[in-house]
Amino acid sequence: VALGEVLIECRNVARYFGGVRALEDVSFTVREGEIVGLVGPNGSGKTTLVSILSGNLRPTRGSVQIAGNDLAKLPPHRVAHAGVARTYQIPRPFTSMTVRDNVAMAIMFGRSPRSLATARRDAAEPLDVVGLGHLAGAYPDKLNLHQRQLLEIARALAADPKVLLLDEALAGLNPAEIDNAVEVIRRVHRSGVSIVIVEHLLRVVNQLATRIVVLDRGTRLADGDPREVLTDPAVVRAYLGK
Ligand code: ADP
Repeated sequence: VALGEVLIECRNVARYFGGVRALEDVSFTVREGEIVGLVGPNGSGKTTLVSILSGNLRPTRGSVQIAGNDLAKLPPHRVAHAGVARTYQIPRPFTSMTVRDNVAMAIMFGRSPRSLATARRDAAEPLDVVGLGHLAGAYPDKLNLHQRQLLEIARALAADPKVLLLDEALAGLNPAEIDNAVEVIRRVHRSGVSIVIVEHLLRVVNQLATRIVVLDRGTRLADGDPREVLTDPAVVRAYLGK
């Protein structure tokens, strides 16, 4: 796979919460065309890193560039315009709005201004990508967990991102739903969106990722080809405990 421009460049990023070191000296890049699996034991800093890359959290040290823009110079609402969108572990759709309007709202806030009528029409595309077109008129409380997670992805796609950050978007799914989610993520990738996926199911990461970055206690333990990384003795030790 020929890789394109650098979309995310994360240099020597550290983040502390009071005395807690969540990340220390983490560097990596995401290029156009990649699906980067971000893995590591609980508490290794994955969610903190996703929050930094999406502009929800400032790094204590280090820098992040999004498609050539210094993240520190962008207000949070501009990060989406720079091309990064994220999903959250726990989907929180607007329950008083239909599935279609949930996506329409994300379109209105995420892209160039447009009328609600236009946003409603444009919502069809992200809903089709995730396979929720037939539920556009339903309310979120009628959706099961898997469908709510797909809606979360559709809302993120509404911002027309270059990179989609998926934070545990498959948590709690049964095997058939996981297979479907993997297909949806492949479809999103084929539509030209690069992906960073945080996932503790290594089988899924192994299936999807073109590259894997492993965090352990806030530092980058490995970065490279999925097969090599997942058989790296240091990575195996980090997972199994020493
Ligand atoms: P992961 O997503 O890999 O499970 P996190 O990024 O959630 O890891 O957490 C990394 C470390 O930072 C943990 O020790 C966690 O307790 C700590 N941490 C994360 N967020 C906060 C916060 N808002 N306040 C204090 N400590 C936090």
